[in-house]
Amino acid sequence: MSSFHSPQWFTEVHHDLESAYSLKITEKLAEQQSPFQKVEIYQTTQFGKLMTIDGCTMVSTRENFLYHEMMSHPALYTHPEPKNVVIIGGGDCGTLREVLKHQEVESVHQIDIDEVVTRLSEQYFPELCQSNNDVRAQILFDDGIAFMANAEPESIDIVIVDSTDPVGPGEGLFNRAFYQSCLKALRSDGILVQQSESPLYHLALLTDMRNAMTAAGFSDLQTLSFPQPIYPSGWWSCTLAKKQGAFGDFRAVDANNAEFETLYYNSDIHQAAKALPNFVKQAFDGT
Ligand code: SAM
Repeated sequence: MSSFHSPQWFTEVHHDLESAYSLKITEKLAEQQSPFQKVEIYQTTQFGKLMTIDGCTMVSTRENFLYHEMMSHPALYTHPEPKNVVIIGGGDCGTLREVLKHQEVESVHQIDIDEVVTRLSEQYFPELCQSNNDVRAQILFDDGIAFMANAEPESIDIVIVDSTDPVGPGEGLFNRAFYQSCLKALRSDGILVQQSESPLYHLALLTDMRNAMTAAGFSDLQTLSFPQPIYPSGWWSCTLAKKQGAFGDFRAVDANNAEFETLYYNSDIHQAAKALPNFVKQAFDGT
């Protein structure tokens, strides 16, 4: 990917797909080059603030709820009783906020490699960081690959991989070795959930991710899709991987009786998100 901005537009170009995505902007608010990546913040005309990392859109004020809710609530309501959660990446803190809405969760460790992302999010997306001081939250800055490799065995209920694409620092979060680390760290009823790119633009990658999860020893997979306007194709996915056994039904009654607000997620959306288009089914079945 590459990006450029004219006085009036931010544009992310997807060269391999010869497509692009633009948002009208009024000004660039911040730019910081960290040891890992370049983080930029723009003021848009219709989407609020926009964060990009190495020229790729990450979050905007207007639509981030779609992604943050779908990266957290399906896995949390699929697990019977999630207490200890780890978020790899997630530096904008939106996923952390959603996880902490679940009162049964006792601890959330967020490990993002780049402190610059979180510091800029605190300044320009304070609404995403409103739960950062929750006593259950620990925000760490480290490589998620090393963190999971060193995690205590059978100590985690849910691992959420809310990372950038498999390039640069994120590359090592999409392979069998990393998934084996996650499997070891999860308890027997544990679940890994990872942002798994676009079913339309990145189906080969998504299929490779699923195959690597299976090769690492995960026993069952569920890929859920959802709208994500500012990402390539506007159609995104997350993939849940179960450490042992097969996925059963999710806790729909609990989801419907949630004591907190969501703007997108509900039990109907959760059920519908599990439905796969035929072309995706065929790719997953190798047919
Ligand atoms: N929603 C975005 C997406 O799907 O592209 C991801 C948002 S979040 C900002 C992505 C985060 O992954 C970034 O803050 C980045 O620093 C972090 N990240 C990338 N590689 C990492 C690694 N190896 N360990 C921990 N965090 C990593």
